[in-house]
Amino acid sequence: MKINLEKLLRKEVDSLDLNFVQEIDTINYQGKDFKFTSPAKIEGRISRVHGDLYLDCKIEFSSVDTCGRCLKDIDIFVNADVQGFLVESEEEVLEDEDTFVYNGEELDFKEIVENAFILNVPRKVLCDEDCKGMCVNCGVNLNEAECRCIDEDENQEFIDPRLSKLKDFFKNN
Ligand SMILES: [Zn+2]
Ligand SMILES: [Zn+2]
Repeated sequence: MKINLEKLLRKEVDSLDLNFVQEIDTINYQGKDFKFTSPAKIEGRISRVHGDLYLDCKIEFSSVDTCGRCLKDIDIFVNADVQGFLVESEEEVLEDEDTFVYNGEELDFKEIVENAFILNVPRKVLCDEDCKGMCVNCGVNLNEAECRCIDEDENQEFIDPRLSKLKDFFKNN
């Protein structure tokens, strides 16, 4: 969604209330595609502060990530506070402040939402602190089923002592 800043720039108004949704399909971040399960909700305002335009809003959205151990889908909810000055070109970007560049007289929220995503999405998620993960051998989700790889390991441990006892038996008789 592009917000027209014309009235603010021409000083016809002192502030502009924001209340809209930004449709986002997926965001590619660190080689991974994150699917949005809801459009981003933006609520706040742009106001004139000492001659500059200042954005102050909340951005809410939900997306899906996968558990770092078992790859199960996990819903992620983000509620980000986004604040910063609006500037006309990249050269005006301030070092110590968050700034957002607008083009012509329009501010594009797609980029702002993408930025909010990158800054707020958790680095690594787990479906559960105790997630058992996947069997590296057969790929079974160990939270949902036991796999045969473990059974075989256990059987071997179980059989071995008996075999050694048999060996001892033959030795002594
Ligand atoms: Zn998991
Ligand atoms: Zn297995």
